[in-house]
Amino acid sequence: MKIAPGNVVGFHYLLRNSEGTVLESSHDGEPSIYLHGSRNILPMLEKHLDGHEVGDKLSVELDALAAYGPRKDSLVQKIAMKHLEPEGKKLTVGSTARLRTDKEVHHVTVLKLGKFQATVDANHPLAGQDIVFDIEVIAIRAAKPEELAHGHAHGLDGHAGH
Ligand code: ZN
Repeated sequence: MKIAPGNVVGFHYLLRNSEGTVLESSHDGEPSIYLHGSRNILPMLEKHLDGHEVGDKLSVELDALAAYGPRKDSLVQKIAMKHLEPEGKKLTVGSTARLRTDKEVHHVTVLKLGKFQATVDANHPLAGQDIVFDIEVIAIRAAKPEELAHGHAHGLDGHAGH
């Protein structure tokens, strides 16, 4: 079976930056599972996986633009402390936090903490970086009707419904 739109795909990955430093790896944990053709993952990654089969290994090099976009200085902002919620136990410099606005929740990194205001960075942690995914395809199956309706996969076996 080849990876095609409407298939659920499982893969393990190692994510490196252009210097070769490993940023993330799924090999010690759960594989990534996604519904092909539904933009669940980076579009360029999806494009490279198309047509591959179980057991295939591929390295996908993505420049910053094809990955998580350029870093934007405008996303570094001062905001009132009351809008910030820690994602861990407490707010510290370097920790991640949720920033609530009227409409949405952003994930930010705390750069500076004051009494009433904090400086936060809303850039994706990998923004501005060229990255390489070393991928091993471990599973391919046809998506279930429910998964197609939802536009995402329900786990490796399709039973993680909700
Ligand atoms: Zn669902």
